[in-house]
Amino acid sequence: MPKKPSDPGKWHPSTLAIHGLGRLPKAYHAVSTPIVQTSNYYFDTAGEVEDFMRSKGQGKVSREHEYARYGNPTQQECERKLAAIEGAERAVLYSSGMAAVLLTIMTFMKPGAHIVFTSDCYRQTRDFATNFLGKFGIGYSIVDPTAKAIEEAIKPNTNIIFTESPTNPYLRILDIPAIVKVAKKRGIMTIIDATLATPYNIRPIALGVDVVVHSATKYFGGHNDLMAGVALGSAALMTDLYKMQRMMGATPGPLTCFLLERGLKTFGMRMEHHNRAGLAVAQMLEAHPKVEKVWYPALPSHPDHRTGMEQMKGFGSVISFLVKGGNAETRKCIDSLDLFLITPSLGGSESLVTQMSTMSFFDYPEEYRQSIGMVDNLVRLALGLEDVDDLIADLKQALDLI
Ligand SMILES: *Cc1c(COP(=O)(O)O)cnc(C)c1O
Repeated sequence: MPKKPSDPGKWHPSTLAIHGLGRLPKAYHAVSTPIVQTSNYYFDTAGEVEDFMRSKGQGKVSREHEYARYGNPTQQECERKLAAIEGAERAVLYSSGMAAVLLTIMTFMKPGAHIVFTSDCYRQTRDFATNFLGKFGIGYSIVDPTAKAIEEAIKPNTNIIFTESPTNPYLRILDIPAIVKVAKKRGIMTIIDATLATPYNIRPIALGVDVVVHSATKYFGGHNDLMAGVALGSAALMTDLYKMQRMMGATPGPLTCFLLERGLKTFGMRMEHHNRAGLAVAQMLEAHPKVEKVWYPALPSHPDHRTGMEQMKGFGSVISFLVKGGNAETRKCIDSLDLFLITPSLGGSESLVTQMSTMSFFDYPEEYRQSIGMVDNLVRLALGLEDVDDLIADLKQALDLI
C-alpha cells in the first residue's frame, strides 16, 4: 500500500491537482494512472460475486469495479483529485458539464416544487428550465444574478437555488455567503455552477454551498480536447448523485479521464497564467479607444468588483467587451485576429473569440436576445496559454483596423 501523507489538508490546489489527498495503489506501480479500456471486470469465482454484492449493500466494497457504466479506475482517480482541490468529500464525474448540471438538478428536483435560477447563465441550463421543467410539474423563476433578486424569488415550495458565479458572459459575481444564509434559513438546497471560477479562485463548499458543478471541459481539462463534467459535495449528496449516474450512464470513458487527469497536473500553473493574462488584457481593452465597455471583475468598473475582490483570488481568462460600433465593426475586429479561434468554450490552451449574438444565441428572437444583453457588438474572449504580450498585440492590431 502507498504511504499516507502527513498533512495533505495544507496543500495548495496545484499540489492537490497532482497528488489528490494521497496515493492510490496503481497497476504495475505506474506513475500515471493507466487507461483501463474494458467494459466489464471479471470475478474469479461465483462466490466472489456473492461476497461483492453483499459488501456493496453495507457500503463496504471488497473490490472497486464491475461494469464500466459504474465507473473506471482513471475516473476514480480524477474524482479523488477533483474532490481534494474543491475541498469536497466526494466528486461524481460525468461525460459533459451539461450531464453534471442536469443530472444534479434531476436528482434533487421534486414534483410540485420550484427552482430559482439566475439569468446570464449557460444557455442550455436556461433552456432546460424553460423547455423541460414544466413537463415534470416543476415551477421556476429566472432572476437577476444578485442575492437580493434570488431572495425575492423564493416561494414557499422552492427547494433548489441554482446559480452560476461568475456568470457568463457578463461575469457577474454572486455574494455566495448571503445566498447560503437565505437558503439555509429555509431549508433550500444551493447548487452553483462554478465553471468560470474553478476552486483555484474560489471554493464555494467552504462557504456553505451544498453542491458545486463544473464543466471539466473547460479549465480542468484545459486543452480544448475533451468533454467532461463534475459535481462535488458531501458524501451523502454525492451518493444520491452517483445512484442516478449509474442508471443514466453519462459516464466519461477511460481515455477522457486519462486526458483530464493529465490536464489536472498543470491546473495550478494554468490558472495562475489565466488570472494574470485576464487582468492584463482587460486593462488594455478598457484603455483602448475602439472599446466601449469591458466586463472583468478585477476592474473597478465592473458592477461586482467589490464582491469579487472579497471572495475570489482571481478571475480567470474570460473577458467580455463592447466594440465601439455595430455588427460590421465587431465582425471586422473578430475576423482580423490572428491568434483567436472563432469558437465557443473557454479554459483551454488556444485563445477563443465569439460574437455572442451569433454564436450562442442566434436562434432566439431578436428582441429577446437584446433584452438578455446579447447585443451585436458584444465580444467574449477566452484567453488561452499563449504569451500575454502576443495576445495584447493581436487584439490591438485588430481593434486598430476598425
Ligand atoms: C461549458 C459550460 C457548461 C456545459 O459544459 P459542457 O462540458 O459543454 O457540457 C455549463 N456551464 C458553464 C458555465 C459552462 O461554461
